[in-house]
Amino acid sequence: MRILHVAAEVHPLIKTGGLADVVGSLPAAQAALGHDVAVLMPGYPAVKAAGPLQFLFDLNHPGEPPAQMLRGELAGGVELLVLDQPYYFERPGTPYTDERGHGWRDNYRRFAHLGYVGARYSQLDDRGGVLHAHDWHAGLAPAYLRAALSDRASCFTIHNIAYQGRYGVTEYAEVGLPGEFYRFDGLEFHGDWSFLKAGLAYSDAITTVSPTYAREILTPEFGFGLDGLLNYRRGDLHGILNGVDYTVWNPASDAALTQTYDAKTLKRKAANKAALQAAVGLESIPDRMLVGMVSRLTVQKGFDLALEPLAALLADDALQLVLLGSGAGALEAAFAELAHRFPGRCAVQIGYDELQAHRIFGGADATLVPSRFEPCGLTQMYGLRYGTLPIVRKTGGLADTVTDYTGKNRDSATGFVFGTASPVALRRTLGRALKAYSEPALWRRLAQNGMRQDFGWDRAARAYIDLYARIGAK
Ligand code: ADP
Repeated sequence: MRILHVAAEVHPLIKTGGLADVVGSLPAAQAALGHDVAVLMPGYPAVKAAGPLQFLFDLNHPGEPPAQMLRGELAGGVELLVLDQPYYFERPGTPYTDERGHGWRDNYRRFAHLGYVGARYSQLDDRGGVLHAHDWHAGLAPAYLRAALSDRASCFTIHNIAYQGRYGVTEYAEVGLPGEFYRFDGLEFHGDWSFLKAGLAYSDAITTVSPTYAREILTPEFGFGLDGLLNYRRGDLHGILNGVDYTVWNPASDAALTQTYDAKTLKRKAANKAALQAAVGLESIPDRMLVGMVSRLTVQKGFDLALEPLAALLADDALQLVLLGSGAGALEAAFAELAHRFPGRCAVQIGYDELQAHRIFGGADATLVPSRFEPCGLTQMYGLRYGTLPIVRKTGGLADTVTDYTGKNRDSATGFVFGTASPVALRRTLGRALKAYSEPALWRRLAQNGMRQDFGWDRAARAYIDLYARIGAK
């Protein structure tokens, strides 16, 4: 089957979050099943610098800056298609913002054109198949297919419903979609319109990245205003749990670690803890529970809930904390202040650092993911594989991947789970984890249970292929 993925970020070329990990791995897992898979993404500077790209053809669309389609290759035999449009994409900063974090004013033009090119390329592709668009940035691709009356099957995946790409009627006039799409059961949204809603309204199948999140987004609490449309389309909505790329996230072969290890040689993990403590300036205490957190710092991730309980436990000298993250200024400042208050016990690195993320999962004892909502979440699955016990809130993919230790299930539990999004519930659960940590044999057992879980991509890759077939992709 010919599969064209359209996305704004793809690991290892450019990444701001889990979306890039997914679009970096799912296509390769599908190619490994024998399918003909391509990924279309914008030609940011990092993408053009990464490897050789061949010229395929010029794109001449009226009113759009000059563009070319380039072709390269991703790991696993996946075709990389690059929309090389320097005016839109050769800019400093992230894919979405300038260097100071301000969104580009013409993001609707940039990503509308990505969707347009994806739809047009897919529609003209005589190999048939399916167009698979990811998140709001690619949300217009299914709408352009529908507008062209194409019979190409389309699938749209919600990686995070909170980011919708919402614009006004003035911008709509510039994206070249029919006026009749601007209605309540189309892409109109409270007088405005949104890219994400276009993806939901005009795709043949909608997926999201875990079964629990697929149920949660049908409710007003998690649906961010789109639960009505999603309920209307619930027969076409599927929750397919993301996988982990175990070629990248594997403690047995991870070159970033001081010492590699697996479930049978878990004792060796101690060397990574010692190296991490030394590297970030924590006291070198082998048996103090070291909690690692790697994340965007946003309200979604619930880090504000964790501040008070962590401060209390640090004050009691009950644990150590190492945090790597960036995002909301207030949260960055609050955690920097925590590190300042507890030198030697708490280390905070504000920024984005892929290698350091590996070292944290390799060296920490536990990883805390207290999200208010979490479509899938990858870091708890990295924690599982690295024997770094996840402590998570019961929501979305966190609920689907971590089994709470109840005191009676030491043969199957893989972490610690709490229900209410409150500092009190989080504090209680950290207390349970600390108690388990004080029994090394129990802790080792729970870690090994987690390390033996298999959240590889093969299962998800097959689930998507089945779904494409059901929506008529050939
Ligand atoms: P989200 O996509 O909501 O940010 P996920 O858990 O799905 O959350 O994916 C986050 C990904 O980004 C993981 O691969 C995680 O390791 C990585 N990540 C997040 N923040 C950082 C950071 N500051 N440095 C390095 N990697 C990070």
